Amino acid sequence: MTEDFTTEIYYDGDVDESHLANSTVAVLGYGSQGHAHALNLHESGVDVIVGLREDSSSRKPAREEGLEVATAAEAAKQADVVSILVPDTVQPAVYEEIEPHLEEGDTLQFAHGFNIHYNQIQPPEHVDVTMIAPKSPGHLVRRNYERDEGTPGLLAVYQDTTGDAKDRALAYAKGIGCTRAGVVETTFKEETETDLFGEQAVLCGGIAQLIKVGYETLVDAGYSEEMAYFECMNEMKLIVDLMYEGGLGAMWDSVSDTAEYGGLTRGDEIIDDHARENMEEVLRQVQEGEFATEWVAENQANRPVYTQLNQAEKNHEIEDVGERLRALFAWEEANEESEDEDEKTRVQAD
Ligand code: NAD
Ligand code: MG
Repeated sequence: MTEDFTTEIYYDGDVDESHLANSTVAVLGYGSQGHAHALNLHESGVDVIVGLREDSSSRKPAREEGLEVATAAEAAKQADVVSILVPDTVQPAVYEEIEPHLEEGDTLQFAHGFNIHYNQIQPPEHVDVTMIAPKSPGHLVRRNYERDEGTPGLLAVYQDTTGDAKDRALAYAKGIGCTRAGVVETTFKEETETDLFGEQAVLCGGIAQLIKVGYETLVDAGYSEEMAYFECMNEMKLIVDLMYEGGLGAMWDSVSDTAEYGGLTRGDEIIDDHARENMEEVLRQVQEGEFATEWVAENQANRPVYTQLNQAEKNHEIEDVGERLRALFAWEEANEESEDEDEKTRVQAD
């Protein structure tokens, strides 16, 4: 444990893996997170059974990697810990199948808090409910483990009936390699609300809109599409890489003084108090469950808004310009392809 932070951080040395020693873990789903958790736990000596639909194309790869496979219901029946790693929108339906098999003292284990926090899944009082959420895509959770490295993660306990919930969750975190890098304690509420806010306001929504409006501003003013693409989209990665490695400081140090002065004086004219108020409103909708209600209803209606917006985004001119320009820089793509090889095979496997 480290005391320098506002939350606890757990490492391998803080974990007693015997809390999973006589347990069977059912891993439901074999996608991004599922395959990584199942294989890592298996290689850490934990008894694992993968739960998949009868017709799932993931059954074959899971078996080929030496894992036992059953239906979700059968896996849950045999297991003491049920790790729910199907897509969040599918979880309530899969939960219906496994609920009858949740025995006194079993653990329901999640990698994201949405369904618990917004009451889409209401577990019985006789089970523990925990979360170990790796802070990275599943193929990295797997790759890091294979390289004897770790993936940072989050730990949360929603319900502790056995008194052992946190220790068991930590043993799970160790089994997938997270405590090698450090596991930060949080709550289902905090993980869910910050995750949704982050992806909406900054990471996915905010940044995509910033790029598109920047691009449109240049093109509308008569500059070439190619220049607009490079300035507003392509260079984003170089800037973000610097921030990832050394924070904002590394970025400001690396760009020219002109860029630093211009950025520091103009940045808050773009993301101004109005944008801040909009962010606060987005956060309010997350906190009060309005976003969750909307997204659940959207799925029940077969995603009309999602489908339309997903298509419109694909049709934006910047995507076309980018596709043509990236083809000219094929060496960059070739590099990334070899890095993402295993992820692609996984995704295609389903
Ligand atoms: P995923 O989309 O990769 O797929 C999960 C798997 O679920 C599929 O491969 C398949 O085996 C199964 N599945 C799909 N549809 C199904 C259906 N209709 N019925 C039954 N099974 C079905 O999922 P993921 O991205 O690994 O997400 C799993 C959980 O992990 C989610 O709670 C997610 O929020 C969380 N999480 C994901 C990431 C990430 O980067 N992918 C990171 C942290 C947490
Ligand atoms: Mg996230």
